[in-house]
Amino acid sequence: MRDKLLNYDSVKPYLNTEFIGREYAYYDSIDSTNVQGKREAAVKVCDGKVFITEEQTGGRGRLGRTWESPKFTGIWMSILLKPDIPIELAPKITVIAAAAAYNTMKEFGIDAKIKWPNDIVIDGKKICGILTEMSTVGGKIDYVIMGIGINVNMVEFPEDLKDKATSLKLELGKDMDRSKITALFLNNFEKLYSSFNSTKDLSEVMRICREGSVLIGREVRIVDGSTEFKCDVIDISEDGELIVRMKDGKIKNICSGEVSVRGIYGYL
Ligand code: ADP
Repeated sequence: MRDKLLNYDSVKPYLNTEFIGREYAYYDSIDSTNVQGKREAAVKVCDGKVFITEEQTGGRGRLGRTWESPKFTGIWMSILLKPDIPIELAPKITVIAAAAAYNTMKEFGIDAKIKWPNDIVIDGKKICGILTEMSTVGGKIDYVIMGIGINVNMVEFPEDLKDKATSLKLELGKDMDRSKITALFLNNFEKLYSSFNSTKDLSEVMRICREGSVLIGREVRIVDGSTEFKCDVIDISEDGELIVRMKDGKIKNICSGEVSVRGIYGYL
């Protein structure tokens, strides 16, 4: 059975934000909520506007990879933002979204972990992915569009995702209320984002990212284009970089950029 639609009427009762999600564009089907946010931003940047859809026909992850977004089964949404921060801080919005998603799962009693920098996993399988993009004008941020996909009630995945993706329903054995999860995520995101936007202080976000990290203490592979190396993850730095020990003992900070982190034997 399918739960309620994800329109504003079903999300509003749980929403306690000031500006995130108060403008709310809801679609039955669209190519990509990030792309729609960018289209709209080209005309007008409405700070905090949410673009949300029942399905994406061209959902994307990083590096143009496909993001599966089947109808009525997940939360496929983007938030358009006009942050008052320098360009180099824009990637922190991904980390803020990951911390907000982790806190949301915790509120539902779900034992999820953060896979730095942009995924949430349960038992080593991806349940949520985040893609942040930005546009700049004259050396300043014009807007940021933060897209998030949460697998809520999916029961099957394409063959190539079966051992690396999961959904809340598959993990918990029951349908989950997408509207409530959407609102709670927006509430959590606004709290962390607004505080960062006004203070530029990331310490609370970093505390959450360390507490929820699935990587700290593990041996991983870092994939950076055509190069790949193994290392041990020691910590996450105050400004959100992954601190690793290389096999020669040297300590290195990895910035999120476009690297992918993988487990030694599988996705994680
Ligand atoms: P990663 O974080 O794994 O390096 P991305 O952030 O680019 O990769 O996410 C895209 C990848 O996520 C795809 O290549 C695919 O393997 C996987 N994927 C696609 N759709 C989903 C989904 N709905 N749930 C979980 N994983 C997905």
